[in-house]
Amino acid sequence: MCGISGVYAPGREAARLAYFALYALQHRGQESAGIAAADGGTIRSHKEMGLIGAIFDEESLGALSGHIAVGHTRYSTTGSSMVVNAQPLLERTEIGDFAFVHNGNLTNTDDLRESLAPTTTLLASSDSEVMAKVLVEAPGSMLERIQHVLGVAQGAYSVVLITKDELYAFRDPWGVRPLCLGTYGDGGYVVASESCALATVGAQYVREIEAGEVIRITAAGMESHRGPNQTAKPALCMFEYIYFARPDSTLNGRSIYMARYAMGRQLAKEHPVEADVVMAVPDSAVPGGIGYAAEADLPYVEGLIKNRYIGRTFISPDQKMRSRGVQLKFNPVVENLRGQRVIVVDDSIVRGTTTPRIVALLRESGAKEVHLRITSPPIKHPCYLGVDMATYDELIAANYTIEQIREKTGADSLGYLSLSGLVASTGREHGEMCLGCLTGTYPNAPAAHETRELVG
Ligand code: 5GP
Ligand code: MG
Repeated sequence: MCGISGVYAPGREAARLAYFALYALQHRGQESAGIAAADGGTIRSHKEMGLIGAIFDEESLGALSGHIAVGHTRYSTTGSSMVVNAQPLLERTEIGDFAFVHNGNLTNTDDLRESLAPTTTLLASSDSEVMAKVLVEAPGSMLERIQHVLGVAQGAYSVVLITKDELYAFRDPWGVRPLCLGTYGDGGYVVASESCALATVGAQYVREIEAGEVIRITAAGMESHRGPNQTAKPALCMFEYIYFARPDSTLNGRSIYMARYAMGRQLAKEHPVEADVVMAVPDSAVPGGIGYAAEADLPYVEGLIKNRYIGRTFISPDQKMRSRGVQLKFNPVVENLRGQRVIVVDDSIVRGTTTPRIVALLRESGAKEVHLRITSPPIKHPCYLGVDMATYDELIAANYTIEQIREKTGADSLGYLSLSGLVASTGREHGEMCLGCLTGTYPNAPAAHETRELVG
């Protein structure tokens, strides 16, 4: 998972806008970030490990002059956590230089790597670099090169690319990772992973960039083109709705907040329980918790306060930090918990490391009963398309029954939202989503991927 932004805005400082857009997308990755800008002649770039706010200052942003920019904030799923894997990637071709940012995971990276010229050297270990090299070696104009990539690259890729005087944005034929388009209404455009970033930089939301679509923006305006692969079924990642996207973003016309609120309401219908209060694990489960409380007609309380100044523990590349994560991250509001039968709504259980600690913390804070309610079905299958859950072994629901998971978490009861309840809450159709982590059926998994017969 990563956040990407792109700006084509004559008369505006594009790097500064890309910077504020990245700030709005910081939740999508905290490992490294970078911006490249073009002024019609030269592309300049700056990237480092760390958070957007720590990487850029007036001086480094000021040096990125020009009206065209791309930005990236990284959450690594393939490629190690090093600055060579940070983006934008800068590449040189015989038709000019380009800078490139990518969100998603390719599933045929090895095949693509083999198709490259033997003289091509790869500096990084990421699928993104391989895709950039495919663009370098493809024939024709930049548009034709991108269309070539859309024909050969499998997996998830939302990409923004700038040349010295143009901006391109494209999505894989399945539309796995989001990417939306905004306008300033004066020939200026912004693209971003999520609509919340458009609002931040004062651009008007126009629409989602479509699966398999290539947008090209030049001084003459915006054009829309298609790649060659028109037969793919749309497969937007369900985990965007469950967890990843910010609640103030809109995906395909549906507010993420309202989708999560509906999930909470539906969960209350599917798994009611006698209790005194409803709380959510902040921040991602808050709309779901409020929805659950509304449907159950119970008070919604804040049982845990999250320290917003530490990153998402799960994303931290250092595994040791993760084990200290819960205490660093949450403090209980004892007054809301003591002696109460508490319904705790969370959005997902992935590995099952955090959840038992949260349940224990609530019990230590005096909760009399802890009823765990999850606004997604059990996550039973790995993701090959950009979410950091790569193997069956690490997924608790792939290895234990719901009753065993309840026992491991220490909750008094455990209820998961049904698949149909989840899909209905998004306003999408079953066949328009990637539900791979829930069902094991993927739009485009790697040719040799792990499969497993699951019990329960
Ligand atoms: P677990 O019990 O599986 O260790 O942790 C569950 C918690 O992890 C939930 O609160 C859920 O919101 C959160 N979570 C799920 N996916 C991700 C992710 O990709 N990144 C982070 N930081 N948290 C996640
Ligand atoms: Mg959470």
